[in-house]
Amino acid sequence: MQVKVVKFGGSSLADAEHFRQVASIIRADEARRYVVPSAPGKRFPEDTKVTDLLYTCYEMVRRGEDMTPVFEQIRARYNGIIEELGLDCSILEDELTFVRGALLHNSGRDYAASRGEYLNGIVLAKYLGFDFIDAANVIFFCDDGSFDAEHTNAILSEVLQRHPRAVIPGFYGSMPNGTIKTFSRGGSDITGSIVARAAQADLYENWTDVSGFLMADPRVVKGAQPIETITYRELRELSYMGAGVLHEDAIFPVRFAGIPINIRNTNQPGDEGTMIVAQTDKYDSEHVITGIAGKKGFSVITIEKDMMNAEIGFGRRVLEVLEEEGVSFEHLPSGIDTMSVVLSTQALEEHRDHMLNRICTKVNPDSISVEDGLALIAVVGRGMVKAKGTAARVFRAVADASVNIRMIDQGSCELNIILGVDDHDFERAMNAIYAEFVK
Ligand code: ASP
Repeated sequence: MQVKVVKFGGSSLADAEHFRQVASIIRADEARRYVVPSAPGKRFPEDTKVTDLLYTCYEMVRRGEDMTPVFEQIRARYNGIIEELGLDCSILEDELTFVRGALLHNSGRDYAASRGEYLNGIVLAKYLGFDFIDAANVIFFCDDGSFDAEHTNAILSEVLQRHPRAVIPGFYGSMPNGTIKTFSRGGSDITGSIVARAAQADLYENWTDVSGFLMADPRVVKGAQPIETITYRELRELSYMGAGVLHEDAIFPVRFAGIPINIRNTNQPGDEGTMIVAQTDKYDSEHVITGIAGKKGFSVITIEKDMMNAEIGFGRRVLEVLEEEGVSFEHLPSGIDTMSVVLSTQALEEHRDHMLNRICTKVNPDSISVEDGLALIAVVGRGMVKAKGTAARVFRAVADASVNIRMIDQGSCELNIILGVDDHDFERAMNAIYAEFVK
């Protein structure tokens, strides 16, 4: 029998109505055997996620304030869901008493945050009639705080074999000393991926409130079309540049095991969503490009020096300064006697003067300058390898929109073309490129 691991985000489990929807999705396919829930999310735009309420409780206790009003909101949210679903009202009573006590005894920030998923997992398991597996017993971190992939996979796959159908809460696991540790925000996506690998699943379905990835940010390009299929590598490029539906780290466990991810919409279960796959031989795209993503707020440091090309070690010495300051760079376009370093303005900010002075001391340039206000746009597509003239089309579209290109970067892997334009040209350039490739 097929195995599917299904992860539901916070908005998919925000209230009883959504729980019913989720249960009907799970029951519609026998293969949906392992379920990874987030904590209840927002029911309406001004609402607060349970995870955020828990962080608030933690902070209040730490400051010596009375957390009762906030904790009671959390209790009310779970009890509201339980009651409306017609479950036994007492299922969380002891758990909530315990969690409250632990919070009051300052059991840690991660412990506090993780209880949203933990409690939601218990409710969902009861509602579905599935087993409940506490993630603390099957998801492990190393002493240095990094995720312990192999130990987790060994234990988790063995435990799953004993539970044909189970709910495993997302977002957290345990440290070698038994304390609770969470992934970064949005980390239930990672748990889903880890469970899919351990279950040797055929598919990892990630259910959220949008029908997959769009070809561009709809706030910038109105009516952007959905992406049907995308490779893990393309997704890395697009999410790095700001397309955020899935946690960045959620790709790794399933990619390792060659399991596809399907992004689906809980509110529109009929939509096919986006498939994220390793190879695309089976899935041909109708477009040359898969998506466009971009961000504002970059700076360029331009360094000039005659005969730079003959000075061995020049680039290394410049980059050494960045390394010493703990600043990472995005791109390094270079000419014969010039080298530019593109980096986020925010990352540069506090190091600006010190870093420029250090570069001057190290490489003694003829000139060095910094320009802010650069936006980067990544045009991403596996189809670009085969298609001739893609770059020409990108540049013509941008030129026809009267946008000046300040930087170009295309790696030889031909998966993307990166452009730098002025911040104030960003929206215009994005729309022009989109219109050129997607009619
Ligand atoms: N509940 C956590 C958060 O709000 C984790 C998640 O939803 O994935 O970040």
